[in-house]
Amino acid sequence: MTADAAKATLTLPPFVNERIFPGVDDPTAREAFPRAIANVRAQLGKTYPLYINGQDVTTDSLMDSVNPADPDEVIGKICQAGKDEAEQALTAAQKALLTWRDVDPAERAQYLVKAAALVRDNLYEFAAWQVLEEGKQWAQAYNDVTEGIDFLEYYAREMIRLGTRRDLGSYSTESNFYFYQPKGVALVISPWNFPFAIGCGMCAAAIVTGNPVVFKPSSQSLVVGHHLVQIFREVGLPEGVFNYIPGPGSAIGDYMVDSPKVGVIAFTGSMEVGLRIIERAGKTGEDQPSVKKIVCEMGGKNGIILDEEFDEDAAVKDVLYSAFGYQGQKCSACSRLIVVDSVYDRFVPKLVEAAKQLKIGPAEDPQNYMGPVIDRNAQRTISEYINLAQLEGKILYRSETPDKGYYVPLTIAEGFTPDSRLAQEEVFGPVLSIMRAKDFDQALEWANSTRFALTGAIFSKNEEHLETAVQQFRVGNLYLNRASVGALVKVQPFGGFKMSGVGTKAGGPDYLLHFMDPRSVTKAP
Ligand code: NAP
Repeated sequence: MTADAAKATLTLPPFVNERIFPGVDDPTAREAFPRAIANVRAQLGKTYPLYINGQDVTTDSLMDSVNPADPDEVIGKICQAGKDEAEQALTAAQKALLTWRDVDPAERAQYLVKAAALVRDNLYEFAAWQVLEEGKQWAQAYNDVTEGIDFLEYYAREMIRLGTRRDLGSYSTESNFYFYQPKGVALVISPWNFPFAIGCGMCAAAIVTGNPVVFKPSSQSLVVGHHLVQIFREVGLPEGVFNYIPGPGSAIGDYMVDSPKVGVIAFTGSMEVGLRIIERAGKTGEDQPSVKKIVCEMGGKNGIILDEEFDEDAAVKDVLYSAFGYQGQKCSACSRLIVVDSVYDRFVPKLVEAAKQLKIGPAEDPQNYMGPVIDRNAQRTISEYINLAQLEGKILYRSETPDKGYYVPLTIAEGFTPDSRLAQEEVFGPVLSIMRAKDFDQALEWANSTRFALTGAIFSKNEEHLETAVQQFRVGNLYLNRASVGALVKVQPFGGFKMSGVGTKAGGPDYLLHFMDPRSVTKAP
């Protein structure tokens, strides 16, 4: 790319969020989604290679990715990396670093803008893959792809902002300036529940800041994980700047995390794996050139408080959406509903009645509110929690489920206190635990009573209580009088603290800084 082309990106229009899903009744969506799903179905069962140093690489070991609504339907067969392939990818990224780190930031940003345009062109098709591979409803799948576009567009602009040398002023006769360089090779490890957006965001941030990437997608979202190969190959990223290494975390995860070739690790996933990565990456070998930086987003146990007075119809809708949208498999999902005593007996039956109206079945049918969970293991684990809910509390509603596929019942249970396991452990499924608090103060105390601090919401007409919540409901993303899910890039930077993360806030103004080291230069006359 020429210097002129790089300069042109400096005049990018201001960032605007991509339009989210227009709704299942939108005429374009009603026509485009079934067509895209049919188109994807015609491509099922293909084999997907690894991507190392700009080349497709096949391995003998293959893993099937299946439709959780119908496990007989194979979405694709994905070559699995072992330690040899992981090492090749790390080596390729290390070599690419030597040139990529000094590429003009505006030029790097332009790759992201091009990638965003490509994703936009394929929006419905990319979303359709998620409907079949991850059991995402139309809106959930579509909005995952638009979030990916937002990350690409936003981080491109952020890099242009940060890539300009900053004048620090002079002291005596000396002038001073400040700029950033990348940390090194980035290992990006993503989860399956936002199968495109999260991996795309972490890779985009690393790439645009000058760190070549080794990307390990979740083993439950391998075909969607491969979409990044298609995009980054097509925009013409130089060899080795993006490498795709699918493979079991249990087999290659530690190996890559421990590698001295890695300078920064961007991880999103469970607390257990996140803490393991932080611990292992904290050991610095003699052959390791720099201390590893960990960008880490983990789980949640998110609560919604219902105060004494609030819009009950809006709360019913938003609580159901927060708890059961995408089967409750969102880090931001509401899994604890904390209701103040004075409204409890009126509100909770209303909520249960509304939940009984929700249909459950394959996500490709837009009439279904809830679909399957991601796989058999998740089905088993969530079912165990439902059994536990029966022991610790009382089940108010447990839905029927289709016979075929990895379904679990939509479950609402009550009678929990902060000590209950159902009030403390992340379930990652459609199980809502309700707690009766005597008043707002106790509700707030209970809302803060877990190890996590990711999202939270409060429904209240009491401005004083809302203001208290702003200060004392200690979560990364707090929502007043609305659902606890659906954060948007730039306007609602996402991420938590305590055991939910290390405060790195994806899609926020500080995010790219985690991938770079600052340098300052002083010049004497
Ligand atoms: P996970 O089991 O922790 O897996 C996440 C990633 O880590 C996967 O790619 C996994 O690979 C990999 N991995 C497993 N063991 C590893 C090891 N020893 N070393 C390195 N990598 C390893 O989480 P998940 O089930 O995919 O996702 C759900 C979790 O993510 C929930 O806890 C959810 O709350 C959290 N989440 C958080 C956010 C947020 O922004 N805070 C967003 C989304 C999800 P394999 O798949 O091959 O095992």
